Amino acid sequence: MKVAIVGAGVAGAYLSGLLAEKGCSNLLFDHLAPYEKPCGGGVTSKAIREFPFLESQKIAKREIHFIKFVTPGGSSYDFPLSSPFYVCSRKELSRFLIDRALQSGARFIPEKVLRVEKRKGRWKVISDKGSHSADLVVGADGVKSIVRRQLWRNFDPRDLSLAVVGYIKGGFEEKAKVCFLSGVEGYIWWFPRQGYASVGIGSPLGQMESHQLEILLRRFILECLPSKETIEASFKWALVPSLRAEEFLCQRYSGERWALVGDAAGLVDPLTREGIYYALKSAQLLAEAILKGELGEYDRMLQREFLGELHKAAQLRKRFYSPWFLEIGLRLAAASRDFREIALQLLLEKPAYTRLKKRLLRKGAPGAAQSIWYYLTKPLRHKGSPQ
Ligand SMILES: Cc1cc2nc3c(=O)[nH]c(=O)nc-3n(C[C@H](O)[C@H](O)[C@H](O)COP(=O)(O)OP(=O)(O)OC[C@H]3O[C@@H](n4cnc5c(N)ncnc54)[C@H](O)[C@@H]3O)c2cc1C
Repeated sequence: MKVAIVGAGVAGAYLSGLLAEKGCSNLLFDHLAPYEKPCGGGVTSKAIREFPFLESQKIAKREIHFIKFVTPGGSSYDFPLSSPFYVCSRKELSRFLIDRALQSGARFIPEKVLRVEKRKGRWKVISDKGSHSADLVVGADGVKSIVRRQLWRNFDPRDLSLAVVGYIKGGFEEKAKVCFLSGVEGYIWWFPRQGYASVGIGSPLGQMESHQLEILLRRFILECLPSKETIEASFKWALVPSLRAEEFLCQRYSGERWALVGDAAGLVDPLTREGIYYALKSAQLLAEAILKGELGEYDRMLQREFLGELHKAAQLRKRFYSPWFLEIGLRLAAASRDFREIALQLLLEKPAYTRLKKRLLRKGAPGAAQSIWYYLTKPLRHKGSPQ
């Protein structure tokens, strides 16, 4: 069995290594990788626990032990983290995974895939430089996936977020900052890396134009920097899948000799827009399904593992980003250690959404917990959704 993997980002390169390690021949296509993909580079503590290779010294990263949250009203709260998260260079993470795949016997093809065609039960992968045959094709080609577009369907614009990101040079303290703003279903992040910080902002596509997001971002950066005159950074925009709840119920992730992983599959937390963990996890599950010769199991494995969580995150998003909720939620988190733990685990230790109500009731004051739960789910329960 020969597998063609289109895209050598985290999902594709990790999948390629896992398959090659077990002797499954695969071709890994990418015309850009390894490169610094516009990304926060935040890797949650859950991802670090499940994928210990992330601790490798070969991947440049900062360990973050403190986080500052700023509410839409301007209140700020500093929280220590009981388990740190990492901020990684995306180029080095990608390079590390590609090297591992090559060492295990995968073949890297630095070409841009233009389309895939099925001929007599096999795939022809047509690139800008030639064509290659394979038995199975995997779309790991990110949010603009051509494999997804050809074999399943394009993302609806309502299932995408727009992010603007830049890199600020300097040796910054190991404290991440997350700033929530009124009218933005998203947040500004400041994630220090080695010798610079990645700074960005994301919101649902169509809610704001990229130049409006850039203005908000520049204003935030000016407030953070000691020297206020100029910001020496160029900003790039990028898209992130962030599916609506109803979309999670009708997605396909595999079909007749094809499958999708990572962003190409839309596997990003629509509330926080964390995608690295889901890219790695979907690659791991797909490798397992392919190696067992049970590709049809892949969709069910995703369902069992985390699709319920992503669906729940999509349901909670609107309410979560309301200024009222953020003000109250962060004030409670500052006042109560138990609430703080739940809030931080919600953001950094997923999956936790589906157990949120139970944990709020068990740990927090039941009255406040009930109010928070009622607030988060009120409009959804009218539609007969979660309990
Ligand atoms: C601004 C921004 C900030 C983010 N911040 C975070 C964060 O802090 N933490 C987090 O967990 N997630 C974050 N995410 C999400 C995260 O970046 C993605 O979910 C993750 O990179 C998905 O990995 P992937 O391998 O599926 O796709 P990608 O990393 O996008 O890789 C896709 C690869 O496919 C290649 N490719 C595309 N088309 C072709 C083609 N036709 N032929 C060959 N190769 C092709 C590309 O060159 C690329 O290397 C952020 C996203 C954005 C946009």
